[in-house]
Amino acid sequence: MGPMRRLFWPAVVLGLALAAFDIVPAAYVVALLMALAIWRVGTAMLASLHGGGPTPESPPAPVDTRVERVTYWCEGCGAELLLLVRGSRTPPRHCGEPMHERREVPRDVHG
Ligand SMILES: [Zn+2]
Repeated sequence: MGPMRRLFWPAVVLGLALAAFDIVPAAYVVALLMALAIWRVGTAMLASLHGGGPTPESPPAPVDTRVERVTYWCEGCGAELLLLVRGSRTPPRHCGEPMHERREVPRDVHG
């Protein structure tokens, strides 16, 4: 990734060395290293959010609920969702399990 990521461990070592030789008060080094660690975890989480998830094969398409009602229900707790915009074909997860898809087409609409 960026140059900051490569500088992380050298910065940790340098900070510990500065603290060990009493060049910089240890509390400053600890505070700085904690800030660096929090920043690093934050950027890693952002990177996994952007890069790790499934990439949709087509742009989101709105679902006309007058023609087609697609609902998802959770076996674990009974929650039920109405699909308004179709993204990927992967069902959403609830209670740690994939939700069950149920498709309803109103009787008065033909085709
Ligand atoms: Zn649930």
